[in-house]
Amino acid sequence: MARKKKGLLLVVSGPAGVGKGTVNAALMAKHPEIRMSVSATTRLPRPGEIDGVHYFFKTKEEFDRMIAEDAFLEYMHVFGMNYYGTPKSFVEEEREKGNHVILEIDVQGAKKVKAACPDAVLVFIAPPSLSILKARLVGRGTETQESIDVRTATALDELKALPDYDYMVINDVVEEAVSEMEAILSAELLRTGRNTELITKLTGGETI
Ligand code: 5GP
Repeated sequence: MARKKKGLLLVVSGPAGVGKGTVNAALMAKHPEIRMSVSATTRLPRPGEIDGVHYFFKTKEEFDRMIAEDAFLEYMHVFGMNYYGTPKSFVEEEREKGNHVILEIDVQGAKKVKAACPDAVLVFIAPPSLSILKARLVGRGTETQESIDVRTATALDELKALPDYDYMVINDVVEEAVSEMEAILSAELLRTGRNTELITKLTGGETI
C-alpha cells in the first residue's frame, strides 16, 4: 500500500481580533484531517480559556525547562511580558500520520518556523481595515483600553510582515475566508514538490 502523504504545516498569523480563531475553527469543523497545535504560554488564562485546549498554561520555570529540553519548534517573548511556544512533538507526530497541522502564531514565530521547516505554508489573515479591527477588539469585551491600544499599534507592525507570507486571506465574511483557506490547502497538496513519489511512479510506467 502507498505510504500516506505527509500532512501540511500551515502557519496562520494575523493581528489579535482579526478572527483567526473563528476562521480556523470553521475550517477544522469541515476537515477532520486538520489539527490545531496547542501552544504553551506563561500568560494567565482569560475567562473561559481551558488548559490544554486553548493553551498549555505554564509557569516561567516550567516554560524554561521545556526550552532546555528542546521541546519547542519555536518560542517567543511577546508584548514584553509573556512567553509563547509551539511544542514540537505534536506537530511532527500528526504530520507523519498524514494530518495537516495549523499553528496560530505571531509573525516572528512564523519566520522561525519557515526557517526550521521550509515546506511550511505561511498564511496571513488580514482585516478589511484597521478601524474594523479595532471595533472587533472592543466588541470582544475581554481587553482593557490599554491592551486595545497596544494591540492596534502592534497590528500595524504585523501588517508590514505581509510580503513574507505565502498567502493572504482577508477576513471580511468568515465563510469566504474559509473557502480561501480550502483553496490554499488544495493548491499546496497539488505542488509537484509534494508529489515526488507519484511522479517517480508515473515516470516509471506505473498507473497511479
Ligand atoms: P493571545 O495572548 O492573544 O492569546 O496571543 C498573543 C499573541 O501570541 C498572538 O499574536 C498569538 O498569535 C501569539 N502566539 C500564540 N501562540 C504562540 C506560539 O506558540 N508561538 C508564538 N511565537 N506566538 C504565539
